[in-house]
Amino acid sequence: MAVLQTIDRELNEYMNITGKTKLVGLLGNPVKHSISPLMHNEAFRQLDMDLIYLAFEVENGNLEKAVQGLKSLGAIGWNVTMPYKKEICEYLDELSPAARVARSVNTVINKNGKLVGETTDGIGFIRSIEEAGVSISGKKMTLMGAGGAAISVLVQSALDGAREISVFNRKGKSYDNLKEILPEISRVSGCTLNLFEYDEQNLAREINDSDILVNGTPIGMEPDTEKSPIVDVSIFHKDLFVYDMIYNPEETMLIKQAKNAGCSTMNGLHMLLYQGAAAFELWTGEQMPVEIVKEKYFKR
Ligand code: NAP
Repeated sequence: MAVLQTIDRELNEYMNITGKTKLVGLLGNPVKHSISPLMHNEAFRQLDMDLIYLAFEVENGNLEKAVQGLKSLGAIGWNVTMPYKKEICEYLDELSPAARVARSVNTVINKNGKLVGETTDGIGFIRSIEEAGVSISGKKMTLMGAGGAAISVLVQSALDGAREISVFNRKGKSYDNLKEILPEISRVSGCTLNLFEYDEQNLAREINDSDILVNGTPIGMEPDTEKSPIVDVSIFHKDLFVYDMIYNPEETMLIKQAKNAGCSTMNGLHMLLYQGAAAFELWTGEQMPVEIVKEKYFKR
């Protein structure tokens, strides 16, 4: 019995759970695959913070109740993932300028009962390319996709000095939404922004004078690993930096095609790390010990 109590105490100390432990969460569906609990709990442990991060799978129609529940329980904040990045905006008190423009939230901060929405995917993207020695400043980017993550990347890249961004998306809600907000993003950032439907000729032309090509669609993600958003592989050029936001699989068909064409490439694994690090800072006011977290969970 005494031995069990010792093990319990040691396990508890390791997990850092006390009567005062505060909650941080993740709302989405599915969430079981998420690496966020590992990343944040490791960072809390490293910094000896009395916080615990838990993932909650929220059924369709239950998001508002889940938000009220977390707020009532005094959670200091939470992440939001697919499919709720847009819907969550309805249940928040305030949105950051980037989240308002993107109409997408992946991080909520509970400021004494006031729920503030932020989008950190774009910050994660910028920090990850900078780590690879690529600067967005003065560059032209072609971006495939106009969903939550793509718009966050678009907004952050425009604000951080991209010269021109050409977005491709099929006609529909995402296309119409982006069309509506594009002039405002362009006005605020001074970046030239173009929106196209998929068309091989337009895509080839825009990629031809682009420095960076980004996939912000799920095309190529597990289990559809044989698919790529690029059909004509002759449109790659060797000066193109090709970025796939997907990190599962680590090497998508798009990354394989780009490597074969001699391009530098990067997947979305470190975007995931740095969007999490940015959320961590918003909740705790502290820097995430990214090198330790990277070494443990993000080894390429
Ligand atoms: P989302 O809001 O659902 O947006 C998906 C986008 O992809 C939309 O523009 C959608 O267009 C387009 N799309 C989906 N299927 C398509 C198809 N078959 N053909 C053409 N376009 C298609 O999702 P999200 O949150 O932005 O995520 C997008 C991708 O980024 C996912 O692969 C996700 O795993 C990845 N991601 C990575 C990170 C990271 O940290 N690395 C963070 C967030 C997201 P329609 O609206 O017209 O369908």
